[in-house]
Amino acid sequence: MHQFLSDLDGAGDVVVDPDVLASYRADQAAPGLLPAGTPAVVVRPRTTAEVQAAVRAAARHRVPVVPRGAGSGLSGGANAIDGCLVLSTERMVDVVELDAPSLLARVQPGLVNARLGEAARAEGLWYAPDPASYEFSTIGGNVATNAGGLCCVKYGVTRDALLGLEVVLADGRAVRLGRRTRKGVAGYDLVSLLCGSEGTLGIVTEATVRLLPPAPTSATLAASFASLGDAGRAIARITRQTIPAVLELMDRTTIAAVERMAPQGLDADVAVLLFARSDLGGAAALDQVDRIAGWCEQEGATLTVTTDEEAEGRMLMAARRLAYSALEREGATLLDDVGVPLGKIPALLEGIERIAEREAVLIGTFGHAGDGNMHPTIVYDPHDPDAVTRARAAFAAIVALTLELGGTVTGEHGVGLLKRDALAAELGPAHDVHRAIKRALDPENLMNPGKGI
Ligand SMILES: Cc1cc2nc3c(=O)[nH]c(=O)nc-3n(C[C@H](O)[C@H](O)[C@H](O)COP(=O)(O)OP(=O)(O)OC[C@H]3O[C@@H](n4cnc5c(N)ncnc54)[C@H](O)[C@@H]3O)c2cc1C
Repeated sequence: MHQFLSDLDGAGDVVVDPDVLASYRADQAAPGLLPAGTPAVVVRPRTTAEVQAAVRAAARHRVPVVPRGAGSGLSGGANAIDGCLVLSTERMVDVVELDAPSLLARVQPGLVNARLGEAARAEGLWYAPDPASYEFSTIGGNVATNAGGLCCVKYGVTRDALLGLEVVLADGRAVRLGRRTRKGVAGYDLVSLLCGSEGTLGIVTEATVRLLPPAPTSATLAASFASLGDAGRAIARITRQTIPAVLELMDRTTIAAVERMAPQGLDADVAVLLFARSDLGGAAALDQVDRIAGWCEQEGATLTVTTDEEAEGRMLMAARRLAYSALEREGATLLDDVGVPLGKIPALLEGIERIAEREAVLIGTFGHAGDGNMHPTIVYDPHDPDAVTRARAAFAAIVALTLELGGTVTGEHGVGLLKRDALAAELGPAHDVHRAIKRALDPENLMNPGKGI
């Protein structure tokens, strides 16, 4: 251990204070349900060279490396392993370059998503990926989980905004992947491979991202439905005919939780609230949400409200933004992020209601209707062993239902520790191909072992 610590010379800030180490044990996934070890050391490098020094020392002493951004992950991906090195990117926060004419930025991995947004705005540009955690999650964490967000229904997920990466591999080599150009097909698409790899293939030390011209002003719709079936048909109709900038939903249980936390005057009899935003600008934006409102009404919406006033639009969307915090206030939460093909959304929502009834658990569902990516959130009492067992059973049943519907076990939060069994079920024989890639890039299995694949 002593030799390992002295080999970390040149790796940046090295922390061994037990109280500080304890604060790096876990991310925000299902507290108490997932293993979280105690790291031997936390290093906080500022440069790629310091990351390389840390990874080389870890490789020499066969110490597992757990990369960590803001620790806002919801799958246990950044949970520590006993005796590991946690490599925190919290000091790698620079915008290295912002090339406005080329619509790109190069940033260090610890930069918080919102800070990149501000830097882009200062140049009259826009960074589109907007996870709900954008105020605190990092670009490195967003890349490692391929984070999604509210506007990815129109603008894509983190991978769609990525042009290039610098990555420190398990043997300490730093390699540049990808490019600065809009198009490019030289070599395998290793940027896409690394994006979403949850720290298991290497450490992202720099990301080159594409920026967009700013989206024009927007218009907003809120629509309520008395049944899941009506809402599901409306979603199917909308997504076949137009691409809104946002298309989100929340169910009856979530609506009730929001009303308990911050009363908005929401109707308790409503089964689903659907929210859409258009950013086509001016009259075109209002026209798009009016057309969406018309389709909702034809599919049985009990009420539709549209506006092109920004403040009013924010008020309409406020309930959706409060969804997760409201459910968190009801008890411990086990948050899921399953994704199904668009046409299967009603079957998923109805199935979740059946599972809640069968397992006698409270499940609030909200999510990204336009992507078929849902967040059924199981609320349970962590001090009641029977409630914990039922919560786990409901979670497994939702995952199984998703696979039956041709869906994916994780739409945006990643596999981490939470979805490892589910991943095996989804990948089938292709799991071996994933493992072969892992062995090729990390033969000693030191990069975030036991997570992801
Ligand atoms: C309130 C709330 C709302 C959220 N909303 C969304 C949402 O809308 N969409 C969404 O997708 N997620 C959401 N999340 C989940 C989480 O914020 C995202 O997964 C985010 O991308 C994690 O970023 P982070 O910096 O916190 O990474 P961490 O949690 O620290 O790490 C996440 C994973 O990335 C790895 N990692 C981190 N940095 C690096 C790096 N530099 N190189 C290699 N691997 C690395 C870690 O090892 C871990 O496996 C939400 C979380 C919360 C708490």
